Amino acid sequence: MAARGLCPGASRAPAAAPLLALCFCLCLCLSLPLPLSPPRPRTEPAAAGWGWRNLTCPACRLLFGALGLALQLEPNVARVGRVAVRVCQELRLARPEICQQAVQLFQQDVVSAWARSVLRPGEACGLLLGRGCGHWDIYADWNVTLPAAPKPPVRPPAPPPPGAPTARLLFLTDLHWDRHYVPGSEPACRDPLCCRGAARTAPGGAGYWGEYSKCDLPLHTIEALLAQLRGAAPPFDAVYWTGDIPAHDVWQQRREDQLLALRTVTRLLRKHLGALPVYPAVGNHEATPVNAFPPPYVRGNQSSAWLYDAMAQAWQDWLPPAALETLRVAGFYTLQVWAGLRLVSLNMNFCSQANFWLLINSTDPAGQLQWLVGVLEAAEQRGEKVHIIGHIPPAHCLRSWSWNYYRIVNRFEGTIAAQFFGHTHVDEFEMFYDEETLTRPVSVAFVAPSVTTYINLNPGYRVYELDGAYPGSSHAVLDHETFILNLTEANAPGAKPRWQRLYRAREAYGMPSAFPVDWDQLIRRFQDDESLFQRFWYLFHKGHPPREPCHEACKAALLCSLRTGRSIDPSLCHVLRPTLPFAQIQELWRQRQLC
Ligand SMILES: [Zn+2]
Ligand SMILES: [Zn+2]
Repeated sequence: MAARGLCPGASRAPAAAPLLALCFCLCLCLSLPLPLSPPRPRTEPAAAGWGWRNLTCPACRLLFGALGLALQLEPNVARVGRVAVRVCQELRLARPEICQQAVQLFQQDVVSAWARSVLRPGEACGLLLGRGCGHWDIYADWNVTLPAAPKPPVRPPAPPPPGAPTARLLFLTDLHWDRHYVPGSEPACRDPLCCRGAARTAPGGAGYWGEYSKCDLPLHTIEALLAQLRGAAPPFDAVYWTGDIPAHDVWQQRREDQLLALRTVTRLLRKHLGALPVYPAVGNHEATPVNAFPPPYVRGNQSSAWLYDAMAQAWQDWLPPAALETLRVAGFYTLQVWAGLRLVSLNMNFCSQANFWLLINSTDPAGQLQWLVGVLEAAEQRGEKVHIIGHIPPAHCLRSWSWNYYRIVNRFEGTIAAQFFGHTHVDEFEMFYDEETLTRPVSVAFVAPSVTTYINLNPGYRVYELDGAYPGSSHAVLDHETFILNLTEANAPGAKPRWQRLYRAREAYGMPSAFPVDWDQLIRRFQDDESLFQRFWYLFHKGHPPREPCHEACKAALLCSLRTGRSIDPSLCHVLRPTLPFAQIQELWRQRQLC
């Protein structure tokens, strides 16, 4: 790709630094967990006024127009950083200390990525401020190559024969350990993350086990979760763990902090889960700066080697050498779980619009999707079934990545037995339909709720029941269960933490099975059966829904999101006949970002 600017010795114009600084601030704020739009009143009372929406679209386009010129000049990173702090403060993007720390953390990588990218103003502002401000998916036309061999005939899923063995899969996602969590501290602060610092003298401080606020979890809550899993009956057969280990204090995270979280939590899992195999996926919070996952062509100190090497070392007892090898290169891998079942762990940061390294080139980063096609093709030939795990669910991905992934799921519907994701922190799913008619359900991506409380949730985890390990098994999901720690109960004086089953999917929703067709039917039933939908809304928030109810627009947007396994596709919701335009639905989706 053509690289711009950053040429040593070029003359500097005073205007260049402020412009770059602003661009950089916008990148940074895309990564900070600040509300993208006015949040639910109960979550953000103290943070009103901060946020990158303080920048308007016309101003953004004007500034990026000038950026093209500014990038021809040599930016001094430290000088750009100083101005960026001022811009961040002037625009009230965050409070001054956070501006200072965040700029320090992001400046080198963001300036590098900007300087190597070829974005036009409309594209950049579309990326930063949303589609209303420009079309930004500049590489919309790329395509993976599917195998020449024709797709095998479709065989609808069928329940396993009576008495066939089942398998139990423990699913953990978004642990978000905050090592600065202090019971009794302020739960409603102005920062992106609270429940830290000195304990309050007045009552109303953060609970011992966690808090319904903008807070992550203390280690003792994660340990209590793992400890009570011992002796689970029936026992688990494997663990899928889809990332986001550190807390949301992204403005102050150093590489040592991220590695400490990785190693501490890995050790804790090994301590409590013993010999149970754990298969991880890389979350967007593992890196620092958050979301910064340079593709493998970025080498040296700016590469992700510091992270992937540490992961390969920490997880070497769980993963075979071939998996560790690709993990070290790009954070994804494949392995055989047991006879007849293959796992693919994707690095979904290569599909993420928040990964600013993709500004340089977002065409199949790290060749991951083409690699996936190869893995699936080989599995199809061997008669294996495949589970796919990843952090960010596919509909949250860059459009082109997402549409290619949808094509792959369609082509390999007979091989992909299940898909599992996390990241949104809530309990939901995304449907995949046949590409020709968009009506026949072919797959479902389960999106499990987080272990963390962030924001306003109970701690929780998921267990999947699978068609078990026997010759000819479908390895499909037969049912799932969700467990929570009710914080109101657990934090009461003298109480002991009691992890309890919140619900069992088939029982709660009255589904005959848990195949894609059942989830598709369920969405239609939600539309007509208000009390069933309200039950879903309650479970969606792990038993702690917001005070504001979800009706009309909220319900339409949520049902549409369940049908939408690929991003930016209004046609997937047509069958629901939504009463509001797709752009408005997307806006509502953006408002409920918690992760
Ligand atoms: Zn998360
Ligand atoms: Zn995440």
